[in-house]
Amino acid sequence: MILEKERKQIITFSLKMLNDNLTNGTAGNISIFNKEKQLVAISPTGIPYDLLTPQDISIVDLNGNLIEGKAPSSELEMHLIFYRNRKEINSVIHGHTKYSTAIACLQKPLPAIDYMIALTGNFEVPCAPYASYGTKELGDNCFKTMGDGKACLLANHGITTVGENIESAYNILSQVEYIANLYILSKSIGEPIILDKYEIFNMIERFKNYGNK
Ligand code: 13P
Ligand code: ZN
Repeated sequence: MILEKERKQIITFSLKMLNDNLTNGTAGNISIFNKEKQLVAISPTGIPYDLLTPQDISIVDLNGNLIEGKAPSSELEMHLIFYRNRKEINSVIHGHTKYSTAIACLQKPLPAIDYMIALTGNFEVPCAPYASYGTKELGDNCFKTMGDGKACLLANHGITTVGENIESAYNILSQVEYIANLYILSKSIGEPIILDKYEIFNMIERFKNYGNK
């Protein structure tokens, strides 16, 4: 079985996404790019996460041709556009998170009310214009709106995050959801203060050396 490690990681993080309340039902999808083999492992379309087996995971090439496994996620194009165009990206996660999607329903960005937004590589999490799920248009909107950042809200739908690896893409998904929750909470008791853009750019630099390397 090719890309066995990636298939197992997709199952582990899919279950985590479900248990951490970062998606629901069969909504959302996860992929990992194996640069050496130039192949992508992605969650299959419409299979409940708790029923997934490694054999079910779809393996596709960068043109979207199915190499092994079940039919890939309907959002395949939204994943492939990042691997084709951003060399540093090796994992993409799309979730139907509750709080960040609530903000996406306003078709507005999530502003910097907490310095941790710097994890996304941007001073806010922008919101991509609405397009139907599973369309190339949605993938294009997401890619363009995200720019060089690592997170993007999808209007009236959800969120997509990217990373050098699945751990990083997942951490960004989870942190953005935390900040979105905080934003909605603070909005309910007053008008939250938005941090200065230059402070966030400063934090983006600081994060490059954060923690034990
Ligand atoms: P898939 O089951 O096809 O991955 O679709 C879920 C989804 O979130 C569509 O946007
Ligand atoms: Zn979706």
